[in-house]
Amino acid sequence: MADHKECKHSPVEITRREALHGMVAGLGVLAMPASDASASVWEAFFQKHFRELSKEELTQTLARLSSEYSEEFGKEITVKATPAIEGVKYGYGLDLSRCIGCRRCVYACVGENNQSHDPQIHWIRVVQLNKEKGTSLEYAEHYYNPELVPEKGHFYMPIQCQQCENPPCTKVCPVQATWKEKDGIVVVDYNWCIGCRYCMAACPYGARHFNWTKGQLPAENMNTDTHYLGNRPRPKGVVEKCTFCIQRTREQPGRYPACEEICPVGARKFGNLLDPNGELRYLIENKRVFILKEELNTQPKFYYFYAT
Ligand code: SF4
Ligand code: SF4
Repeated sequence: MADHKECKHSPVEITRREALHGMVAGLGVLAMPASDASASVWEAFFQKHFRELSKEELTQTLARLSSEYSEEFGKEITVKATPAIEGVKYGYGLDLSRCIGCRRCVYACVGENNQSHDPQIHWIRVVQLNKEKGTSLEYAEHYYNPELVPEKGHFYMPIQCQQCENPPCTKVCPVQATWKEKDGIVVVDYNWCIGCRYCMAACPYGARHFNWTKGQLPAENMNTDTHYLGNRPRPKGVVEKCTFCIQRTREQPGRYPACEEICPVGARKFGNLLDPNGELRYLIENKRVFILKEELNTQPKFYYFYAT
């Protein structure tokens, strides 16, 4: 089960239905499924908050979603809810002296996490920076497109959800549809998100993305191994973001996130921050490390460093 202790607010302080009701009160209409809607539409509508589901309800919910997605994509799709592993807090390191700006990580992430192909959604952005101007994001080039990378005089900085230890995004959600798990991963329940986008406005890293329309994902590209809080298909009108590949990293033995696995130059280092002998701890303790927008006290668990 997901961690219930990290979020200070009870999921029922303001319920999703109260918020929805408030939003539509002016219209005098509550958006309910049509009377001839199928049983699964009603089940989805009345589904409890993820952290309030009993074991049995969770099993039923995962089975319902697996069946819906399998029918939609014409192949067997599993939806799991693997919980956080005891004694693990995930962190990520990125070696700026190695990254060549090839964007392979961006597209490995799209494939692994079932991101929409049209319109394109990318959970990772790689920006090009000028060596003379340093790491100031003010001068970042987001749409660089030379024939060859790396381009002389430049270096590259991939940016994705920083899995903040003190995340402003979760605090502003009026229905507690997003929260930080025990292993530090910040997640979204797509069945509970009401699409208000407050979390997007609160995130100082531009790490959250909104589904303005139902994303297009060709069935042949669909990754069939999905997690409820991660890469399962997202409906129109909800927010999504990087989860450090929760469907891979919470397995035992754990797998690396797709972005770390694909990187051709070994610029990416994923690991357990609580492991005193881990590579990540060594890097943090021995290299020149910085975090983005430190002054905001968001406490990212994504560390940039120069190994050379
Ligand atoms: S795959 Fe590696 S080298 Fe390429 S942009 Fe991503 S982090 Fe940089
Ligand atoms: S980077 Fe943004 S979305 Fe990710 S945890 Fe921090 S504030 Fe939230």
